[in-house]
Amino acid sequence: MTKKTLAVVCGGGGFIGGHLVAHLRATGQYRVRSVDIKPASQWFQRFDDVDNLVLDLGRRDAATIAVEGAAVVYNLAADMGGMGFIENNKALCMLSVLINTHLLMAAKDAGVKKFFYASSACVYNAGKQLVTDNPGLAEGDAYPAQPEDGYGWEKLFSERMCRHFYEDFGLDVRVARFHNVYGPNGTYDGGREKAPAAISRKVQEAVRTNRLAIDIWGDGEQTRSFTYIDDCIEGIERLMRSDVREPINLGSSEMVSINQLVSIVEGIAGVTLTRSYDLSAPKGVRGRNSDNTLIRQLLDWEPSTSLRDGLARTYQWIGAELDAGAAGRPRVAA
Ligand code: NAD
Repeated sequence: MTKKTLAVVCGGGGFIGGHLVAHLRATGQYRVRSVDIKPASQWFQRFDDVDNLVLDLGRRDAATIAVEGAAVVYNLAADMGGMGFIENNKALCMLSVLINTHLLMAAKDAGVKKFFYASSACVYNAGKQLVTDNPGLAEGDAYPAQPEDGYGWEKLFSERMCRHFYEDFGLDVRVARFHNVYGPNGTYDGGREKAPAAISRKVQEAVRTNRLAIDIWGDGEQTRSFTYIDDCIEGIERLMRSDVREPINLGSSEMVSINQLVSIVEGIAGVTLTRSYDLSAPKGVRGRNSDNTLIRQLLDWEPSTSLRDGLARTYQWIGAELDAGAAGRPRVAA
C-alpha cells in the first residue's frame, strides 16, 4: 500500500476512534479520514491534517461518502455507553446495526481491501458469567447465543454479517471483541461513561470537594478486566496485519472486582473513601474476564499494561479535564 492509501476511521470523534486516528496519523502510513455523527466541536481528538467528516453513518448515502476511495475501513462507530446506558437504551443500541450494515455494503461496492469491526465482550453467553470467579471467556463461549440484551445482540449479529461478507463477497474482515477499554480522551461523565472513568471522576470529585465518600453500583464484588487504550490500539493494528478473520478477544486478563478497582484509584489519589452501595443500579453480568489463549496463539501478543498504570494516566487526565472545565476551556484537542 502506498503512502497515498486512504484509511477511514468511523466513529473517529469518539474515544477509541480518536486514539486510532491519532495513531494512524502519527505512523504516516496512511492518509486518514475521520467520520463521526457528533459536531466536530465535541470530538475527543481532532486534527487539521485529517479529512474530518460529520455524517450519520446509519444512512446508506453517508456510508458511501465515508468510504469513497478508501483501502482500509475501521468501524468504531456505535451508539453506546456504560452499563447505565446500554441497559436503558436497548433499541438505540440495536440501531447501530444500520451503521455496520451500510458500511459493509458501501465497503464492498467501493472495493475496500480491509474492514475492521469493533465487537464486544457483551456478545458472550450470559450463562457463562454468573459467578465472580470467571475463568475467562474463550471465543467459543459466544455460542449458543445468549448475549447482553440489545447491545450484545447487535454486536453478535454484526460480527456474523462481517463473516458472511467475507464468505460471500470476499471482503477481507477483522473482528475484535473489546473488553472494557479505558484511558484518557474518553467519556467520563454525562451517563455514557464506563466504570474506570466513572470511578476516577468520582474520586477526583471527592478529593476536590473534600466529601470523602463514593457510591458504587451493585455490591462491588462483580468482576471485570479492563484494557488500557494503548493496548487496544496496538491489538487492532496487529490484528489488521494478520490474516485472522474470526472474532478474537482483545482484552486484558487482569481481572478485578469493582471494589478492587475503587481501591486502586483511591491509592492513586492517596485517599480512603466511605463506600455506599446502590444495589438497584444497573450492574451487568456477575463476572467477566478475557481468555487470551487464542490471541497469544494467533498474534503472539496480548495486552500487558497494568491496571494501576493505566488508571494513573486516566485519573490524571480526568483531573486535567475537570481543571479545564472549571477554567471554561473546551475539551477538544486540535
Ligand atoms: P464512543 O461512544 O466514544 O465512540 C463511538 C462514536 O461513534 C461516537 O463518537 C459517536 O458519536 C459515533 N457514532 C454513533 N452513532 C453514529 C452514527 N450514526 N454515525 C457516525 N458516528 C456515530 O465509544 P468507544 O468506547 O470509542 O467505542 C468504539 C467502538 O468500540 C464501539 O463500536 C463500541 O461498541 C466498541 N466497544 C467499546 C468498548 C469500550 O470499553 N469502550 C468495549 C467493547 C466494544
